[in-house]
Amino acid sequence: MEPTKHNFLHDAAPAKGDRERTIHGRMPDKAVKIHDCHMHTWGTGKPLSAAEFIDRTSSCGVVGGNIFSVHPATRSVQRTVVVDQHNGARMDAVLAFTAQTPGFLPFYYLNPTEKDAVKQVEDAKKCGIRGFKIIIGMYHIGDYLDPLRAAAEANLPVMFHCGMCSDPDPASQYNRPVEFETLLAVPGLKFSLAHLGWPWYDEFMGTVAKFHFNQGRRIDGKPVAKLYIDLTPGTPGIYRREALRHLYLTGYPVTEITMWGNDLGIENYETQYARWHLERDVGILSEIEDDYRNERVDRRWLPDLTDIQTPALQKAWYDFVGEPMPKDRD
Ligand SMILES: [Zn+2]
Repeated sequence: MEPTKHNFLHDAAPAKGDRERTIHGRMPDKAVKIHDCHMHTWGTGKPLSAAEFIDRTSSCGVVGGNIFSVHPATRSVQRTVVVDQHNGARMDAVLAFTAQTPGFLPFYYLNPTEKDAVKQVEDAKKCGIRGFKIIIGMYHIGDYLDPLRAAAEANLPVMFHCGMCSDPDPASQYNRPVEFETLLAVPGLKFSLAHLGWPWYDEFMGTVAKFHFNQGRRIDGKPVAKLYIDLTPGTPGIYRREALRHLYLTGYPVTEITMWGNDLGIENYETQYARWHLERDVGILSEIEDDYRNERVDRRWLPDLTDIQTPALQKAWYDFVGEPMPKDRD
């Protein structure tokens, strides 16, 4: 999904700070401090300067989020990568970039099948990395839980791709939502699943249910792994509204564990796309809130859906990365 969308957008890249295009939907309330939990380093060119990046993100109302390092050399992608892909260099680059962009946290893109993956996790913690990004290749994540145990031990969250995988390897089957049930074996792990598992968003809700039913403490007294939802698209076109309605209206309490993301890169944070996506999603979320308030949906099965935007755009991110909310700090 990513390369296709990215290539398309690249052609349509707007001038900086473009705010003109309006589509259906609406921008969030100005008071909401938007966090974009899913930004890449594609490695296909030079990143924007920190000043330009901040200029572009803030023109969309985005004040923070997570930036992934470039992917490991051991992962196959369709892109031509021009940056140093040695593991140390990837880690240094994302740390150096985020050192200049307050509010944006460095995430290290890990391949858990590499022999020294556990050490990479430990080193990342020492260097100030705040979490990990993983896209599973041709393997079952359940066979590589040690690096995830190390991440849980280090109290660092892990963000997974989930659903169809657009890269050259036929790896989609390993990224299906149910593959992640195995993470119940990693106590204390905080992890997120992206893209609503498209095209398996019913299965995605089953996995949400599985973690919901088993939340709290395990028999051994340790905390159960906690699932967060990364709303980053991957659910294309007409599926977006349907998938978001599935998420909120199935009836599980997802509001506080759902974060918003955009899947853009630090080489070109395309403001036109960012705003288009924000408007579209906020339009759909507003519609769900309105349907709930006006009882156009059967509220008997539902948790409170009066405000699902603020948690998705702002609050859940703080919980996921372990930062206090600004009002708690003041
Ligand atoms: Zn992505």
